[in-house]
Amino acid sequence: MNVQEIRKQFPILHQQVNNHPLVYLDNAATSQKPVQVIEALNRYYREYNSNVHRGVHTLGTLATDGYEGAREKVRKFINAKSVQEIIFVRGTTTALNTVAASYGRANVGEGDEIVITPMEHHSNIIPWQQLAKATGATLKYIPLQEDGTISLEDVEKTVTPKTKIVAVMYVSNVLGTINPVKEIAAIAHKNGAVMVVDGAQSTPHMKIDVQDLDCDFYAFSGHKMCAPTGIGVLYGKKELLEKMEPVEFGGEMIDFVDLYDSTWKELPWKFEGGTPIIAGAIGLGAAIDFLEEVGLDKIAEHEHKLVQYAMEQMKEIEGITVYGPKERTGLVTFNIKDVHPHDVATVLDAEGIAVRAGHHCAQPLMKWLNVSATARASFYLYNTEEEVDIFVKGLIKTKEYFGNVLF
Ligand code: PMP
Repeated sequence: MNVQEIRKQFPILHQQVNNHPLVYLDNAATSQKPVQVIEALNRYYREYNSNVHRGVHTLGTLATDGYEGAREKVRKFINAKSVQEIIFVRGTTTALNTVAASYGRANVGEGDEIVITPMEHHSNIIPWQQLAKATGATLKYIPLQEDGTISLEDVEKTVTPKTKIVAVMYVSNVLGTINPVKEIAAIAHKNGAVMVVDGAQSTPHMKIDVQDLDCDFYAFSGHKMCAPTGIGVLYGKKELLEKMEPVEFGGEMIDFVDLYDSTWKELPWKFEGGTPIIAGAIGLGAAIDFLEEVGLDKIAEHEHKLVQYAMEQMKEIEGITVYGPKERTGLVTFNIKDVHPHDVATVLDAEGIAVRAGHHCAQPLMKWLNVSATARASFYLYNTEEEVDIFVKGLIKTKEYFGNVLF
């Protein structure tokens, strides 16, 4: 499929916004959904909506097959060893909180260390802050280098035998930095710690192999990779998950319930209390089929071209600061001198261009960048070079609008 054929699969892209063709560049916040996913949801609700794992009736069996079939698709997609290692959750935030609440509470104590970085999304900071506060552990940060990358030397210096958990994002939602999580995992293991990877911004854009990364936990959200909102995945190594306690208790996750005690189902269901996210998982399965048909390597290459093309042009516009390293995934975070990013986003919106403005759920990183907010354009498989041109024209217009032509 070429980019025009890909675009045809996304009905939402073919509309005017403020009398201009929509240019959707807010993909790091959430992606659009192809007909394959919309149809999968439609079919589920029209033809076989039913609860799973319970009934012996035909619809129940179809729904269970759809739900568990999606788990196998996820397993293959990230190359996990077993479907028992794939837990369906609401999203990255829930996945990371589950690790902190279950593994963290059982394995972290006073005097221990939890290591993260200042570039993390709030979802990969606050669960660890809370864990540190509750247990008396110390939260430590791997410092960032000037270009917004991490050096392995600094990782070696920060992670010690006292470290119990290292939690790092694979790709930054602000800087586009691709962190060396495989190498960081090796350093964590050498010190006896587990490695948690926030894969929210990597999984939609590049081939993931959790066995090759050798991470212990890996979290991601469906909605950033063409799937519906409300579905995400926590991957965990089976030997760790087996020893962990569930964090949600109730229906679906139990084996036997007595008046004063209960036992849990086996993996992965012991972590999926209550009626699961059936439609969401089926939608995620359809999204995976679609992304695999296009090819993750092709998607990564396409986005790489777009972001380098955008950055080359932005470099030529005086008064624009671009944050982060040259080698990055398909997003560009920037500021225009003397223009608030919300104003940038508002002017672009009037041109039909959707970008994000704000702190991007990364306030410590904003502090490190010494800004209160930034604007961000983030690309996906359906964006085109023409859209980059429209975006760059929009930036020039924004500058003119605010009277900053002659910096
Ligand atoms: N981590 C990163 C790097 C993200 O970009 C996001 C979403 N912006 C999250 C975590 C949280 O994902 P969700 O809101 O889907 O739980």
